[in-house]
Amino acid sequence: MKTVGTAFSDNAKMTMRNVDVFYGDKQAIHDVSLDIGKNEVVAMIGPSGCGKSTFLRCINRMNDTIESCRISGEFRLEGQDIYDPNQDVVPLRARVGIVFQKPNPFPKSIYDNVAYGPRVHGLASRRSDLDEIVEGSLRKAGLWEEVKDRLMSSGTGLSGGQQQRLCIARTIAVSPEVILMDEPCSALDPIATAKIEELIAELSQNYTIAIVTHSMQQAARVSNRTAYFHMGKLIEVNDTKRVFTNPEHELTEAYITGRFG
Ligand code: ADP
Repeated sequence: MKTVGTAFSDNAKMTMRNVDVFYGDKQAIHDVSLDIGKNEVVAMIGPSGCGKSTFLRCINRMNDTIESCRISGEFRLEGQDIYDPNQDVVPLRARVGIVFQKPNPFPKSIYDNVAYGPRVHGLASRRSDLDEIVEGSLRKAGLWEEVKDRLMSSGTGLSGGQQQRLCIARTIAVSPEVILMDEPCSALDPIATAKIEELIAELSQNYTIAIVTHSMQQAARVSNRTAYFHMGKLIEVNDTKRVFTNPEHELTEAYITGRFG
């Protein structure tokens, strides 16, 4: 089946081509091709189990750790093959960061959560440089004002929404180019969700973002383009407005009008 819509971008940051993913004998992704344009927010939507997370996690090689997982096809970041045998995954995951469904701060202080990546990657030689990165990242994640007086308190003591913003600050701290988000609000209340959505809009000025969400409203609010997945296939990719008002494919229409999901 050919994907309808605009899977390709003139200004691609990442290009994925003819991607197949298997877990053992079971194929989870079928021949998916998709670009993510520079500084755009792409939302991936579709019924549970349709392969959104699988595809997202392949984009920074998170699925490498799953033994039964086999991936073929092409994944390029600025033209560079991220599955090249010479590609070290540690710097790759700094360039392509990921934020998960459940906030997962380290059991360390707020400061150390954000400083962790810059320390590992040797991004700051002096304490004052590190302080600057930590403050800047917390500011960009919209958390600085709430935590500036308790940077040495534990990150796990924050509210769920604050923890998720801390995880976003931790991702930002290593200056990623792309941020992947795997249902980043599904464990959060509506107010915390609204804050993360505002943040996504701000972050998209400087970063390229791909977000998996089960919430169509969220996809409609935060993304420029929306990709609709169905049973491991990419059915349609279009401008978000188009997908939600005038989808090209009948499967997309069935999903957005709530006929399954
Ligand atoms: P979605 O994010 O759309 O809910 P997933 O990518 O999580 O979908 O799952 C796609 C398919 O791959 C499902 O059939 C799921 O059961 C299967 N799957 C996902 N992760 C694994 C895994 N670690 N091992 C085996 N099968 C998996």
